[in-house]
Amino acid sequence: MNTGPTARTRLFALLGDPVEHSLSPIFQNAALYASGIDARYMALRCSTEALPALLRGVAEAGGGGNITVPHKEIAMRAVDRLGDAARRTGACNSFGFGDGGIWGDNTDVEGFRRALHALLGSSSSGMRVLLVGAGGAARAAVCALLDDGAASITVVNRSADRTRRLAAQFGSPTSLQLADRVPPDTFDLAVNATTLGLRAGDPLPLEPRVRAGAALDLVYTPEETPWVRRMRERGIPAADGREMLLQQGAAAFRLWFGQEPPMDVMQRALGLGG
Ligand code: NAP
Repeated sequence: MNTGPTARTRLFALLGDPVEHSLSPIFQNAALYASGIDARYMALRCSTEALPALLRGVAEAGGGGNITVPHKEIAMRAVDRLGDAARRTGACNSFGFGDGGIWGDNTDVEGFRRALHALLGSSSSGMRVLLVGAGGAARAAVCALLDDGAASITVVNRSADRTRRLAAQFGSPTSLQLADRVPPDTFDLAVNATTLGLRAGDPLPLEPRVRAGAALDLVYTPEETPWVRRMRERGIPAADGREMLLQQGAAAFRLWFGQEPPMDVMQRALGLGG
């Protein structure tokens, strides 16, 4: 029996550069297969110039997908309508076709919120949060933390102008504080939203003696990230970016197919147990 793609099979794609190391095809295809959905999920490396036409072509053929670095902002302009999370963060990481047009949204916000809940066992309501980084992932984190009522979010980033742009994106709420360096305060939670930890030999994103009750690294690598390892060695509850990856992918699956994804299948495919 032919179990491969047919003329009816829909294409879902991760568009970015690079994409070769992405785990999304592994857990999305496992979920599609387990759900009996006739679709395949592929990673397609593409340039900035090629992104709008490729995104629109995939969506108009009845598919959809995800956007990753460095195209999340350009994708905002390639779609016909934006969801609330995409508008608020200024970044689009998911797209599809529906209601006569191509939609774009940001499921990193939901992914961050759920990953945080898995780590803390509660929301970030009332918490003092230290966030290092001010790129797209940091904006998704800020969006979720503001919505959940974090008491304060202290943002530290290498480039100060990017930190200021992040604050402006959210209308500079009083709970959002910008700092040149990590203040010697005690935080309930520290979050790494920089790319530090992706490459072997990277410095740690935050001094391991930072005073934090829990640590969430948005970076994921095949092994535990060095920062997560160091925080756990100090007895601090810590998690890497795989749970957020799973949860943002599950949120996109719900948008594409209007049904609940098989979370246990996705978790196993990512080596998260379950
Ligand atoms: P981005 O928009 O390119 O932002 C990169 C951030 O890292 C910026 O704040 C940048 O600071 C900082 N940075 C880069 N190199 C640095 C260095 N050598 N020293 C200090 N800071 C440095 O990327 P992004 O989309 O926000 O992604 C950030 C990370 O989150 C990536 O590793 C990505 O894989 C991860 N992520 C994970 C998930 C998930 O589901 N787990 C989802 C989204 C993103 P400057 O502003 O100074 O350049």
